[in-house]
Amino acid sequence: MSLTNRDQQHLWHPYTQHKTASPSIAIVRGEGALLWDENNKVYIDAIASWWVNPFGHSNRFIADAIYHQLTTLEHVLFGGFTHEPAIVLAEKLLEILPSNQKKIFFSDNGSTAVEVAIKVALQYFYNKGEKKTTLIAFENAFHGDTFAAMAASGISFYTEAFQGMFIDVVRIPVPVKGQEQLSYAALQQAIADHNVAGFIFEPLVQGAAGMVMYSAEALDQMIRVCNQNHVLTIADEVMTGFGKTGRNFACDFLQTQPDMLCLSKALTGGTIPMAITTFTQELFDGFYSDDINKALFHGHTFTANPTGCAAAIASLTLLQTDEMQNNIARVHQSHLAFEKHIQNHPKVSTTRVLGVIFALEIKTESQESYYGDLRNKLYHYFIENGIIIRPVGNIIYILPPYIITEEQLKKVYEAVENAIEIV
Ligand SMILES: *Cc1c(COP(=O)(O)O)cnc(C)c1O
Repeated sequence: MSLTNRDQQHLWHPYTQHKTASPSIAIVRGEGALLWDENNKVYIDAIASWWVNPFGHSNRFIADAIYHQLTTLEHVLFGGFTHEPAIVLAEKLLEILPSNQKKIFFSDNGSTAVEVAIKVALQYFYNKGEKKTTLIAFENAFHGDTFAAMAASGISFYTEAFQGMFIDVVRIPVPVKGQEQLSYAALQQAIADHNVAGFIFEPLVQGAAGMVMYSAEALDQMIRVCNQNHVLTIADEVMTGFGKTGRNFACDFLQTQPDMLCLSKALTGGTIPMAITTFTQELFDGFYSDDINKALFHGHTFTANPTGCAAAIASLTLLQTDEMQNNIARVHQSHLAFEKHIQNHPKVSTTRVLGVIFALEIKTESQESYYGDLRNKLYHYFIENGIIIRPVGNIIYILPPYIITEEQLKKVYEAVENAIEIV
């Protein structure tokens, strides 16, 4: 029996309606930007396996670091104990994070990184005896699938079944070009009307919404408003972190830095699940007390897993090489050239590029639903043609591993261009 058939006996997949979905493709091997299925068909991974894999599949350098760590100290509890990989990773990260970030807290995935940030925002005011219990978040935001992260998320079909069970969130429009004033006004109104603890956002790019982009100037303006009103700011860099925008972090484009950052996805180069939430000294000090009740009572069993830390250190080393920085610049240039080529296509309504992220919207009569027919048609077209791309409604985006070759990129662009023709 094929792996695909055996899978169907026992496995439940994410974001999948098993009655109507096609069977899962069984991948047996990966190298660079390529993946092979059990029938030896090859695919170009044009979305870095949900944005986690900048340096290519089965990366030898990271694998060696993992092996070395596994055979030295695979894991130790992080309550009452520490270890060098966690310390070195924190030191290395703080060197490149916005300079106001001083403390590193570990968890296991993007949702929990967000969960931690939200709990810190709420408890920070609780510890001070202030009642601030509302969050502000953007429309169409995606912050993850755990409860507080879902509450902050605005893409309705992810969260519809749970409406009414969430912490209080006020949703405001994204300051996309031309809508900035609307967005600023909504932010100010929300702060005036509610006891707001924090504002959470995906800086510059809303990934799951279909790579919706807005300017650093607009975000700067909004963070300044929050600062003036003692509203904490949380940058969810789970998608944007580690080079995707062309800089290490999307926040590197800002003048005013947020109070917290959430990191995961590319943190370990796509090898081991791990996440980090980072904080200013002021936030840490809000929990620093003789009173045990003021501590942050949050932790996961595998917090700061040494093997994950070793993978993250190796990933950071790779990210900082000239070779990788050149790859990022090269992919960016290729995207710009493709954008220029495709943007006037009669079936394309808009295009956008930031760093290694490319997105285009196909002109449609009606509002396309996230997992609608057009999306499915496109998805299957790409799979048939050996390209892994997951369109969002009428939006096709590319976010490849940085090491993707020019030849592979060319194939991806050709597939995108052909796909637009068939729909
Ligand atoms: C993917 C994502 C998350 C959730 O991360 P998981 O590891 O899937 O829990 C949160 N925020 C953003 C911006 C993301 O892209």
